[in-house]
Amino acid sequence: MVRAWPAESRWLLAQQRQPGTPEPVEAPQRPALQEVSQFMLLEREVELEYRPRMLQALQNKVKTVADSLRDQTPDCERCRQPMKRHDAEPVSWMARCGVLSASVERYRCPTCQDERRPLLDRLGVEPGRVSGSLARLLALLAVVAPYTLAAQLAWLLLGVRISPSGVWKVVQRLGESAVRYSEGMSRYHGDSRSVGASTQGAPPAVVLSVDGSMLGMQVRPQRRRRTGADPLPALPAAREGQFQEVKTGVLLLPSERVETSPGRHSVVRRFLVSCLGDADAIFARLYAQLRELGWVGPHTVVVIVGDGAEWIWNRATLLVRRCEILDFWHALEHAWGVARLLYGEESQRAGRWVHQIAEDLRAGQVQEVIARLQRLRPKTPELREKLQGLIAYYSEHRGRMHYDEYLRLGYGIGSGAVESAHKQVVQARFRQAGMRWSEAGARRLLALRLLLLNDQWALLDGLPMVTMA
Ligand SMILES: [Zn+2]
Repeated sequence: MVRAWPAESRWLLAQQRQPGTPEPVEAPQRPALQEVSQFMLLEREVELEYRPRMLQALQNKVKTVADSLRDQTPDCERCRQPMKRHDAEPVSWMARCGVLSASVERYRCPTCQDERRPLLDRLGVEPGRVSGSLARLLALLAVVAPYTLAAQLAWLLLGVRISPSGVWKVVQRLGESAVRYSEGMSRYHGDSRSVGASTQGAPPAVVLSVDGSMLGMQVRPQRRRRTGADPLPALPAAREGQFQEVKTGVLLLPSERVETSPGRHSVVRRFLVSCLGDADAIFARLYAQLRELGWVGPHTVVVIVGDGAEWIWNRATLLVRRCEILDFWHALEHAWGVARLLYGEESQRAGRWVHQIAEDLRAGQVQEVIARLQRLRPKTPELREKLQGLIAYYSEHRGRMHYDEYLRLGYGIGSGAVESAHKQVVQARFRQAGMRWSEAGARRLLALRLLLLNDQWALLDGLPMVTMA
Protein backbone atom coordinates (compact mmCIF):
# COMPACT_ATOMS: atom_id res chain seq x y z
CA MET A 1 0.00 0.00 0.00
CA VAL A 2 1.34 3.40 -0.94
CA ARG A 3 0.59 6.33 1.32
CA ALA A 4 1.60 9.94 0.98
CA TRP A 5 3.70 11.22 3.83
CA PRO A 6 2.24 14.05 5.86
CA ALA A 7 3.98 17.35 5.25
CA GLU A 8 5.33 17.39 8.85
CA SER A 9 7.27 14.17 8.62
CA ARG A 10 8.85 15.29 5.42
CA TRP A 11 9.92 18.49 7.16
CA LEU A 12 11.28 16.42 10.06
CA LEU A 13 13.37 14.30 7.76
CA ALA A 14 14.78 17.41 6.14
CA GLN A 15 15.81 18.68 9.60
CA GLN A 16 17.52 15.39 10.42
CA ARG A 17 19.66 15.63 7.32
CA GLN A 18 20.76 19.08 8.44
CA PRO A 19 23.64 18.56 10.91
CA GLY A 20 26.56 18.79 8.49
CA THR A 21 25.51 21.38 5.92
CA PRO A 22 26.09 19.86 2.47
CA GLU A 23 29.45 20.51 0.91
CA PRO A 24 29.36 22.92 -2.01
CA VAL A 25 29.32 20.75 -5.14
CA GLU A 26 32.28 21.30 -7.40
CA ALA A 27 32.22 20.76 -11.14
CA PRO A 28 34.28 17.68 -12.04
CA GLN A 29 37.76 18.41 -13.31
CA ARG A 30 38.78 17.35 -16.77
CA PRO A 31 41.24 14.46 -16.25
CA ALA A 32 44.77 15.67 -16.76
CA LEU A 33 47.26 13.97 -19.07
CA GLN A 34 50.77 13.50 -17.82
CA GLU A 35 53.81 14.54 -19.76
CA VAL A 36 55.33 11.81 -21.91
CA SER A 37 58.25 10.26 -20.02
CA GLN A 38 61.70 11.10 -21.23
CA PHE A 39 62.66 7.54 -21.88
CA MET A 40 59.62 7.04 -24.07
CA LEU A 41 60.72 10.04 -26.09
CA LEU A 42 64.27 8.73 -26.34
CA GLU A 43 63.08 5.31 -27.43
CA ARG A 44 60.96 6.76 -30.19
CA GLU A 45 63.59 9.22 -31.24
CA VAL A 46 66.06 6.40 -31.81
CA GLU A 47 63.44 4.42 -33.70
CA LEU A 48 62.75 7.34 -35.99
CA GLU A 49 66.42 8.03 -36.46
CA TYR A 50 67.41 4.47 -37.26
CA ARG A 51 64.55 3.53 -39.52
CA PRO A 52 66.00 5.38 -42.54
CA ARG A 53 69.39 3.93 -41.68
CA MET A 54 67.94 0.42 -41.71
CA LEU A 55 66.38 1.14 -45.06
CA GLN A 56 69.74 2.36 -46.34
CA ALA A 57 71.53 -0.71 -44.98
CA LEU A 58 68.98 -2.97 -46.62
CA GLN A 59 69.27 -1.04 -49.85
CA ASN A 60 73.06 -1.57 -49.75
CA LYS A 61 72.64 -5.29 -49.29
CA VAL A 62 70.30 -5.41 -52.27
CA LYS A 63 72.95 -3.60 -54.28
CA THR A 64 75.58 -6.17 -53.24
CA VAL A 65 73.36 -8.99 -54.47
CA ALA A 66 72.70 -7.07 -57.71
CA ASP A 67 76.45 -6.56 -58.23
CA SER A 68 77.17 -10.23 -57.67
CA LEU A 69 74.73 -11.08 -60.44
CA ARG A 70 76.14 -8.61 -62.96
CA ASP A 71 77.89 -10.18 -65.95
CA GLN A 72 76.17 -13.49 -65.24
CA THR A 73 73.99 -14.37 -68.16
CA PRO A 74 71.19 -16.64 -67.06
CA ASP A 75 70.18 -19.69 -69.07
CA CYS A 76 66.69 -20.08 -70.43
CA GLU A 77 64.75 -22.44 -68.19
CA ARG A 78 62.99 -23.95 -71.16
CA CYS A 79 65.71 -24.52 -73.76
CA ARG A 80 68.78 -24.17 -71.54
CA GLN A 81 70.40 -21.65 -73.95
CA PRO A 82 72.03 -18.47 -72.67
CA MET A 83 69.59 -15.56 -72.59
CA LYS A 84 70.28 -12.05 -73.91
CA ARG A 85 70.17 -8.91 -71.82
CA HIS A 86 67.05 -7.04 -72.88
CA ASP A 87 66.85 -3.91 -70.73
CA ALA A 88 66.82 -2.69 -67.15
CA GLU A 89 63.69 -1.46 -65.40
CA PRO A 90 63.24 0.38 -62.13
CA VAL A 91 61.42 -1.77 -59.59
CA SER A 92 60.31 -1.04 -56.03
CA TRP A 93 58.78 -3.01 -53.19
CA MET A 94 57.85 -2.38 -49.59
CA ALA A 95 59.67 -3.67 -46.54
CA ARG A 96 59.00 -2.93 -42.89
CA CYS A 97 61.46 -0.06 -42.81
CA GLY A 98 60.33 1.57 -46.06
CA VAL A 99 60.24 1.31 -49.83
CA LEU A 100 63.22 -0.27 -51.57
CA SER A 101 64.12 0.27 -55.17
CA ALA A 102 66.47 -1.31 -57.66
CA SER A 103 67.24 -1.24 -61.31
CA VAL A 104 66.49 -4.76 -62.43
CA GLU A 105 68.06 -6.28 -65.51
CA ARG A 106 65.75 -8.18 -67.77
CA TYR A 107 66.98 -11.06 -69.93
CA ARG A 108 65.19 -12.65 -72.81
CA CYS A 109 65.64 -15.96 -74.63
CA PRO A 110 66.17 -15.30 -78.35
CA THR A 111 64.41 -18.56 -79.20
CA CYS A 112 61.46 -18.92 -76.81
CA GLN A 113 61.10 -15.24 -75.86
CA ASP A 114 60.91 -16.24 -72.18
CA GLU A 115 61.99 -13.50 -69.78
CA ARG A 116 63.89 -13.60 -66.51
CA ARG A 117 64.82 -11.01 -63.94
CA PRO A 118 67.62 -12.78 -62.04
CA LEU A 119 67.80 -10.21 -59.23
CA LEU A 120 64.13 -10.57 -58.34
CA ASP A 121 64.38 -14.35 -58.59
CA ARG A 122 67.36 -14.36 -56.29
CA LEU A 123 65.80 -12.00 -53.73
CA GLY A 124 62.36 -13.58 -53.93
CA VAL A 125 60.56 -10.25 -54.12
CA GLU A 126 57.69 -9.12 -56.29
CA PRO A 127 57.64 -5.66 -57.85
CA GLY A 128 55.18 -3.28 -56.22
CA ARG A 129 54.30 -5.71 -53.40
CA VAL A 130 55.19 -6.04 -49.74
CA SER A 131 58.26 -8.05 -48.80
CA GLY A 132 57.91 -11.58 -47.53
CA SER A 133 58.72 -10.80 -43.93
CA LEU A 134 56.38 -7.80 -43.80
CA ALA A 135 53.64 -9.94 -45.38
CA ARG A 136 54.03 -12.51 -42.63
CA LEU A 137 53.79 -9.85 -39.92
CA LEU A 138 50.63 -8.43 -41.49
CA ALA A 139 49.13 -11.91 -41.71
CA LEU A 140 49.97 -12.42 -38.04
CA LEU A 141 47.99 -9.29 -37.13
CA ALA A 142 45.02 -10.42 -39.22
CA VAL A 143 45.07 -13.82 -37.59
CA VAL A 144 44.30 -12.22 -34.22
CA ALA A 145 42.23 -9.18 -35.21
CA PRO A 146 39.62 -8.29 -37.85
CA TYR A 147 41.07 -6.82 -41.05
CA THR A 148 40.31 -3.17 -40.25
CA LEU A 149 41.84 -3.47 -36.81
CA ALA A 150 44.81 -5.36 -38.22
CA ALA A 151 45.48 -2.45 -40.60
CA GLN A 152 45.34 -0.07 -37.62
CA LEU A 153 47.70 -2.29 -35.65
CA ALA A 154 50.10 -2.38 -38.62
CA TRP A 155 50.42 1.37 -38.29
CA LEU A 156 50.69 1.45 -34.50
CA LEU A 157 53.01 -1.50 -34.08
CA LEU A 158 55.02 -1.58 -37.28
CA GLY A 159 54.72 1.98 -38.54
CA VAL A 160 53.41 0.64 -41.84
CA ARG A 161 50.49 2.28 -43.64
CA ILE A 162 48.34 -0.33 -45.33
CA SER A 163 44.62 -0.58 -46.09
CA PRO A 164 42.41 -3.33 -44.65
CA SER A 165 42.07 -4.77 -48.15
CA GLY A 166 45.86 -4.77 -48.45
CA VAL A 167 46.00 -6.92 -45.31
CA TRP A 168 43.20 -9.09 -46.67
CA LYS A 169 45.16 -9.77 -49.88
CA VAL A 170 48.24 -10.87 -47.96
CA VAL A 171 46.11 -13.25 -45.89
CA GLN A 172 44.59 -14.77 -49.02
CA ARG A 173 47.98 -15.43 -50.56
CA LEU A 174 49.69 -16.85 -47.49
CA GLY A 175 46.52 -18.55 -46.26
CA GLU A 176 46.03 -20.36 -49.56
CA SER A 177 49.57 -21.61 -49.24
CA ALA A 178 48.91 -22.86 -45.70
CA VAL A 179 45.70 -24.57 -46.86
CA ARG A 180 47.52 -26.37 -49.69
CA TYR A 181 50.23 -27.44 -47.29
CA SER A 182 47.86 -28.99 -44.76
CA GLU A 183 45.78 -30.63 -47.50
CA GLY A 184 48.99 -32.01 -48.95
CA MET A 185 49.89 -33.37 -45.50
CA SER A 186 46.51 -35.13 -45.25
CA ARG A 187 47.00 -36.70 -48.66
CA TYR A 188 50.55 -37.71 -47.85
CA HIS A 189 49.72 -39.44 -44.57
CA GLY A 190 46.48 -40.78 -46.00
CA ASP A 191 48.58 -43.05 -48.20
CA SER A 192 49.92 -46.05 -46.31
CA ARG A 193 53.17 -45.88 -48.27
CA SER A 194 54.05 -42.54 -46.70
CA VAL A 195 56.66 -42.27 -43.99
CA GLY A 196 55.37 -40.98 -40.66
CA ALA A 197 57.51 -39.70 -37.83
CA SER A 198 59.25 -42.34 -35.74
CA THR A 199 56.83 -44.09 -33.39
CA GLN A 200 59.65 -45.23 -31.11
CA GLY A 201 58.45 -43.05 -28.28
CA ALA A 202 54.77 -43.42 -29.13
CA PRO A 203 52.58 -42.92 -26.04
CA PRO A 204 50.30 -45.65 -24.68
CA ALA A 205 47.28 -43.40 -25.20
CA VAL A 206 46.32 -40.31 -27.17
CA VAL A 207 43.12 -38.34 -26.65
CA LEU A 208 41.33 -37.09 -29.74
CA SER A 209 38.24 -34.99 -29.39
CA VAL A 210 36.15 -33.11 -31.89
CA ASP A 211 33.58 -30.36 -31.79
CA GLY A 212 31.79 -28.21 -34.31
CA SER A 213 30.06 -24.85 -34.58
CA MET A 214 28.35 -22.79 -37.22
CA LEU A 215 29.95 -19.99 -39.18
CA GLY A 216 27.93 -17.24 -40.89
CA MET A 217 28.61 -17.46 -44.59
CA GLN A 218 28.30 -14.87 -47.32
CA VAL A 219 25.31 -15.38 -49.56
CA ARG A 220 26.92 -14.24 -52.78
CA PRO A 221 28.54 -17.01 -54.75
CA GLN A 222 31.40 -14.81 -55.95
CA ARG A 223 33.02 -11.51 -55.06
CA ARG A 224 31.33 -8.34 -56.30
CA ARG A 225 33.06 -6.70 -59.21
CA ARG A 226 33.06 -3.03 -60.01
CA THR A 227 32.25 -2.36 -63.64
CA GLY A 228 33.61 0.97 -64.86
CA ALA A 229 32.80 3.86 -62.57
CA ASP A 230 29.59 2.27 -61.25
CA PRO A 231 29.44 1.76 -57.50
CA LEU A 232 29.66 -1.80 -56.24
CA PRO A 233 26.34 -3.62 -56.39
CA ALA A 234 24.70 -3.84 -52.95
CA LEU A 235 25.30 -6.96 -50.87
CA PRO A 236 22.26 -9.19 -50.71
CA ALA A 237 20.93 -9.38 -47.14
CA ALA A 238 22.26 -12.30 -45.15
CA ARG A 239 19.60 -14.96 -44.83
CA GLU A 240 19.03 -17.32 -41.97
CA GLY A 241 20.41 -20.71 -42.69
CA GLN A 242 23.46 -19.45 -44.54
CA PHE A 243 25.77 -21.25 -42.21
CA GLN A 244 28.47 -23.82 -42.52
CA GLU A 245 29.96 -25.97 -39.81
CA VAL A 246 33.56 -25.54 -38.74
CA LYS A 247 34.94 -28.59 -37.05
CA THR A 248 37.84 -28.54 -34.65
CA GLY A 249 39.77 -31.48 -33.36
CA VAL A 250 42.26 -31.58 -30.51
CA LEU A 251 45.02 -34.09 -29.92
CA LEU A 252 46.66 -34.40 -26.54
CA LEU A 253 48.39 -36.90 -24.31
CA PRO A 254 46.45 -37.83 -21.17
CA SER A 255 49.76 -38.16 -19.34
CA GLU A 256 50.39 -34.46 -19.95
CA ARG A 257 47.21 -33.29 -18.32
CA VAL A 258 48.00 -31.30 -15.20
CA GLU A 259 45.70 -29.91 -12.55
CA THR A 260 46.52 -26.21 -12.39
CA SER A 261 44.11 -25.58 -9.53
CA PRO A 262 41.57 -27.91 -7.89
CA GLY A 263 39.21 -29.13 -10.58
CA ARG A 264 40.87 -27.12 -13.34
CA HIS A 265 42.86 -29.19 -15.76
CA SER A 266 45.15 -27.93 -18.42
CA VAL A 267 47.47 -29.66 -20.83
CA VAL A 268 51.11 -29.08 -21.53
CA ARG A 269 50.80 -29.66 -25.26
CA ARG A 270 47.86 -29.91 -27.55
CA PHE A 271 47.55 -29.91 -31.29
CA LEU A 272 44.62 -28.32 -33.00
CA VAL A 273 43.16 -29.22 -36.34
CA SER A 274 40.28 -27.38 -37.89
CA CYS A 275 38.37 -27.42 -41.12
CA LEU A 276 35.30 -26.16 -42.81
CA GLY A 277 32.47 -28.57 -43.42
CA ASP A 278 33.65 -32.02 -44.27
CA ALA A 279 33.73 -34.72 -41.57
CA ASP A 280 36.06 -36.94 -43.61
CA ALA A 281 38.48 -34.06 -44.02
CA ILE A 282 38.79 -33.38 -40.29
CA PHE A 283 39.50 -37.02 -39.56
CA ALA A 284 42.01 -37.23 -42.41
CA ARG A 285 43.75 -34.21 -40.96
CA LEU A 286 43.70 -35.53 -37.41
CA TYR A 287 45.16 -38.79 -38.62
CA ALA A 288 47.86 -36.98 -40.60
CA GLN A 289 48.75 -34.93 -37.53
CA LEU A 290 48.95 -38.07 -35.39
CA ARG A 291 51.38 -39.63 -37.88
CA GLU A 292 53.34 -36.43 -38.18
CA LEU A 293 53.76 -36.36 -34.40
CA GLY A 294 54.65 -40.04 -34.25
CA TRP A 295 51.87 -40.50 -31.72
CA VAL A 296 50.30 -43.69 -33.05
CA GLY A 297 52.54 -46.62 -32.36
CA PRO A 298 51.52 -50.27 -32.66
CA HIS A 299 50.23 -50.28 -29.07
CA THR A 300 48.76 -46.79 -28.83
CA VAL A 301 45.10 -46.54 -27.93
CA VAL A 302 43.39 -43.56 -29.51
CA VAL A 303 40.82 -42.29 -27.05
CA ILE A 304 38.00 -40.56 -28.93
CA VAL A 305 35.81 -38.22 -26.92
CA GLY A 306 32.72 -36.77 -28.57
CA ASP A 307 29.10 -35.84 -28.11
CA GLY A 308 26.27 -37.80 -29.68
CA ALA A 309 27.03 -36.59 -33.21
CA GLU A 310 26.94 -39.55 -35.55
CA TRP A 311 29.65 -38.25 -37.90
CA ILE A 312 32.21 -38.63 -35.14
CA TRP A 313 31.47 -42.27 -34.38
CA ASN A 314 31.14 -43.20 -38.04
CA ARG A 315 34.66 -42.02 -38.70
CA ALA A 316 36.16 -43.26 -35.44
CA THR A 317 36.32 -46.73 -37.01
CA LEU A 318 39.23 -45.38 -39.08
CA LEU A 319 41.39 -45.90 -36.01
CA VAL A 320 41.88 -49.56 -35.23
CA ARG A 321 43.01 -49.43 -31.62
CA ARG A 322 40.55 -47.04 -30.09
CA CYS A 323 38.43 -46.30 -27.05
CA GLU A 324 35.24 -44.35 -27.66
CA ILE A 325 33.94 -42.11 -24.89
CA LEU A 326 30.68 -40.20 -24.85
CA ASP A 327 31.46 -36.80 -23.36
CA PHE A 328 30.32 -36.98 -19.73
CA TRP A 329 28.91 -33.45 -19.72
CA HIS A 330 26.78 -34.09 -22.78
CA ALA A 331 25.41 -37.19 -21.06
CA LEU A 332 24.39 -35.05 -18.08
CA GLU A 333 22.98 -32.27 -20.23
CA HIS A 334 20.48 -34.75 -21.65
CA ALA A 335 19.51 -35.82 -18.12
CA TRP A 336 18.86 -32.19 -17.20
CA GLY A 337 16.28 -32.00 -20.00
CA VAL A 338 14.22 -34.70 -18.25
CA ALA A 339 14.90 -33.37 -14.73
CA ARG A 340 13.46 -29.96 -15.58
CA LEU A 341 10.24 -31.52 -16.82
CA LEU A 342 10.05 -33.83 -13.81
CA TYR A 343 10.71 -31.32 -11.05
CA GLY A 344 10.57 -27.91 -12.62
CA GLU A 345 13.18 -25.43 -13.76
CA GLU A 346 15.99 -24.73 -11.26
CA SER A 347 14.41 -26.88 -8.55
CA GLN A 348 16.63 -28.52 -5.92
CA ARG A 349 15.07 -31.91 -6.52
CA ALA A 350 15.98 -31.67 -10.21
CA GLY A 351 19.56 -30.91 -9.18
CA ARG A 352 19.65 -33.87 -6.79
CA TRP A 353 18.16 -36.18 -9.41
CA VAL A 354 20.82 -35.28 -11.98
CA HIS A 355 23.53 -35.45 -9.33
CA GLN A 356 22.53 -39.03 -8.53
CA ILE A 357 22.72 -39.95 -12.22
CA ALA A 358 26.13 -38.30 -12.44
CA GLU A 359 27.39 -40.30 -9.43
CA ASP A 360 26.08 -43.56 -10.83
CA LEU A 361 27.48 -42.94 -14.31
CA ARG A 362 30.85 -42.07 -12.86
CA ALA A 363 30.73 -45.38 -11.00
CA GLY A 364 30.09 -47.18 -14.29
CA GLN A 365 26.47 -47.99 -13.46
CA VAL A 366 24.97 -47.04 -16.81
CA GLN A 367 22.77 -50.19 -16.97
CA GLU A 368 21.28 -49.43 -13.56
CA VAL A 369 20.62 -45.84 -14.57
CA ILE A 370 18.81 -47.01 -17.70
CA ALA A 371 16.77 -49.54 -15.69
CA ARG A 372 15.79 -46.83 -13.20
CA LEU A 373 14.73 -44.50 -15.98
CA GLN A 374 12.62 -47.29 -17.47
CA ARG A 375 10.77 -47.72 -14.18
CA LEU A 376 9.64 -44.09 -14.17
CA ARG A 377 5.98 -43.55 -15.06
CA PRO A 378 5.81 -40.27 -16.97
CA LYS A 379 2.63 -38.27 -16.43
CA THR A 380 2.65 -36.06 -19.53
CA PRO A 381 3.22 -36.92 -23.21
CA GLU A 382 6.01 -34.34 -23.27
CA LEU A 383 7.81 -35.98 -20.38
CA ARG A 384 7.27 -39.44 -21.89
CA GLU A 385 8.90 -38.29 -25.10
CA LYS A 386 11.86 -36.66 -23.34
CA LEU A 387 12.37 -39.70 -21.14
CA GLN A 388 12.25 -42.10 -24.08
CA GLY A 389 14.82 -39.86 -25.79
CA LEU A 390 17.15 -40.05 -22.79
CA ILE A 391 16.79 -43.84 -22.47
CA ALA A 392 17.49 -44.24 -26.18
CA TYR A 393 20.52 -41.93 -25.94
CA TYR A 394 22.04 -43.81 -23.00
CA SER A 395 21.22 -47.19 -24.54
CA GLU A 396 22.83 -46.26 -27.85
CA HIS A 397 25.99 -44.97 -26.23
CA ARG A 398 26.26 -47.29 -23.20
CA GLY A 399 29.37 -48.90 -24.69
CA ARG A 400 30.94 -45.45 -24.54
CA MET A 401 29.92 -44.74 -20.95
CA HIS A 402 32.27 -46.88 -18.82
CA TYR A 403 33.36 -43.76 -17.03
CA ASP A 404 34.82 -45.57 -14.01
CA GLU A 405 37.17 -47.44 -16.32
CA TYR A 406 38.18 -44.35 -18.29
CA LEU A 407 38.98 -42.50 -15.09
CA ARG A 408 40.99 -45.43 -13.81
CA LEU A 409 42.99 -45.54 -17.06
CA GLY A 410 43.57 -41.79 -16.85
CA TYR A 411 41.80 -41.08 -20.14
CA GLY A 412 39.50 -38.40 -18.74
CA ILE A 413 35.77 -38.34 -19.44
CA GLY A 414 34.99 -34.89 -20.80
CA SER A 415 35.62 -32.96 -23.98
CA GLY A 416 36.35 -29.71 -22.19
CA ALA A 417 39.69 -29.38 -23.96
CA VAL A 418 38.13 -29.39 -27.40
CA GLU A 419 35.38 -26.99 -26.44
CA SER A 420 37.81 -24.41 -25.14
CA ALA A 421 40.12 -24.99 -28.10
CA HIS A 422 37.28 -24.60 -30.53
CA LYS A 423 36.36 -21.28 -28.94
CA GLN A 424 39.92 -20.16 -29.27
CA VAL A 425 40.22 -21.22 -32.89
CA VAL A 426 36.83 -20.16 -34.17
CA GLN A 427 34.71 -18.02 -31.87
CA ALA A 428 37.39 -15.53 -30.96
CA ARG A 429 38.14 -14.51 -34.55
CA PHE A 430 35.37 -15.76 -36.85
CA ARG A 431 32.19 -15.22 -34.91
CA GLN A 432 32.22 -11.55 -34.05
CA ALA A 433 29.13 -9.42 -34.62
CA GLY A 434 28.00 -9.28 -38.22
CA MET A 435 30.87 -11.35 -39.60
CA ARG A 436 30.14 -13.18 -42.81
CA TRP A 437 32.71 -15.32 -44.56
CA SER A 438 33.41 -16.58 -48.02
CA GLU A 439 34.32 -20.22 -47.96
CA ALA A 440 37.82 -19.63 -49.34
CA GLY A 441 38.38 -16.64 -47.05
CA ALA A 442 37.43 -18.58 -43.92
CA ARG A 443 39.47 -21.61 -44.95
CA ARG A 444 42.61 -19.56 -45.54
CA LEU A 445 42.41 -17.54 -42.34
CA LEU A 446 41.64 -20.70 -40.38
CA ALA A 447 44.78 -22.39 -41.73
CA LEU A 448 46.89 -19.41 -40.64
CA ARG A 449 45.27 -19.16 -37.23
CA LEU A 450 46.03 -22.81 -36.60
CA LEU A 451 49.70 -22.26 -37.39
CA LEU A 452 49.80 -19.60 -34.69
CA LEU A 453 47.81 -21.55 -32.09
CA ASN A 454 49.87 -24.70 -32.70
CA ASP A 455 53.04 -22.68 -32.27
CA GLN A 456 54.09 -23.43 -35.85
CA TRP A 457 54.11 -19.90 -37.22
CA ALA A 458 57.73 -20.24 -38.37
CA LEU A 459 56.60 -22.92 -40.82
CA LEU A 460 55.09 -20.11 -42.88
CA ASP A 461 58.58 -18.92 -43.82
CA GLY A 462 58.93 -22.08 -45.88
CA LEU A 463 55.64 -21.62 -47.73
CA PRO A 464 55.39 -19.52 -50.90
CA MET A 465 53.03 -16.59 -51.38
CA VAL A 466 50.46 -17.94 -53.78
CA THR A 467 49.69 -15.75 -56.78
CA MET A 468 45.97 -15.06 -56.91
CA ALA A 469 44.18 -14.60 -60.19
ZN1 LIG B 1 64.66 -20.54 -74.51
